[in-house]
Amino acid sequence: MKRLFGMLFAVMVACLCAACGAPPEPYTKTAVIMDTVVTIEAEDGEREQAVDEGMAYLQKIDALASQNAGSDLELLRLSAGNGQWVAISPEVFEMLEMSQEWAEKTDGAFDVTVGPVVWLWGIGTEYAKVPSEAELAEARSHVGWQKLELDKSATSARLTEAGMRIHLGAIAKGYAIDGLCAIFKKHGVKNGLVSLGGSSMYAFGKSPKRKPWRIGIRHPRSDDAKEYLAVAPLTDAALSSSGDYERYFEQDGVRYHHIFDPVTGRPADTGVLGVTVIATGGHAGTLTDILTTTLFVMGEEKGKAFLKTCGADASALFIMQEGDTFHFCAATSGDAPAMQDVLTDVAESAQWEAE
Ligand code: AMP
Ligand code: MG
Repeated sequence: MKRLFGMLFAVMVACLCAACGAPPEPYTKTAVIMDTVVTIEAEDGEREQAVDEGMAYLQKIDALASQNAGSDLELLRLSAGNGQWVAISPEVFEMLEMSQEWAEKTDGAFDVTVGPVVWLWGIGTEYAKVPSEAELAEARSHVGWQKLELDKSATSARLTEAGMRIHLGAIAKGYAIDGLCAIFKKHGVKNGLVSLGGSSMYAFGKSPKRKPWRIGIRHPRSDDAKEYLAVAPLTDAALSSSGDYERYFEQDGVRYHHIFDPVTGRPADTGVLGVTVIATGGHAGTLTDILTTTLFVMGEEKGKAFLKTCGADASALFIMQEGDTFHFCAATSGDAPAMQDVLTDVAESAQWEAE
């Protein structure tokens, strides 16, 4: 009898909770993968399976896109210039295909063959240094997306010149976001959030407060990664940011960061501190990741013009600085909304630039 009352009570509580609409506890996991802190949170559907499978997927992409011994990219580097084709995993091949498509569209501003330059500067490692002109010229001479060849029928690739190497740092996180979207879909998760270090994110449906997820646009000059210049309330959208604050070192008052202009082989220097791009739809993760790096390299003026004609549906924000004031400049392509209509809670230190 006591047991029956207990069960009845449990059923009544469950009914009351359903009636008052209390959301179930989200299922969240955090780990260090892809050189950053990743968080996967799912509110509904097969939450546990989605999050656990998502974490395993990120580990897989991390290993595939790495330069470790035996990885696709390391084998490509070792056979660069010897004419041999190297079999590539489907995931890395897909990233290379999209990279080449955008390298062509951006006239090489986005170029994953920038690897020798990335390696030379070593930004974010203990070997970071300003290279000599001779070292720079040598590294630059091995950069060029036209020298990366892909064979789709055999899922293989080759680098036509010795000294070349690929770096997927500007696309892998965004690509992984798209993979996580597929995993959430498969497990019926409609509401949740995935964040790869805060620089690549996807907001699914609504937050537990039943409102759009509030994604912060990081203050580019604050030591506190949680200090924001604005907030993007998002639903079913990807957001990516690239900035000179992510990885850098300073020497003689100059900031050397990790986003390179493939033409000069130096950190892109256009006065832009950060770029954020928001997009929806298939491949939104990869697209936003590619676009933020591209727009950062191009700078405000060229970047705005490029975005308008690039054929994507995306909203972009460029952040510049003048004294203590941060200037916000927006650009939009296709059917995407204007950034001014998306962002809220803009900090007092930030100001929209007139169009
Ligand atoms: P992101 O933070 O997405 O802008 O990516 C920056 C990373 O991409 C760097 O750490 C480099 O590994 C790589 N990278 C730097 N410059 C470029 C470029 N112009 N095109 C493609 N990849 C780049
Ligand atoms: Mg990127």
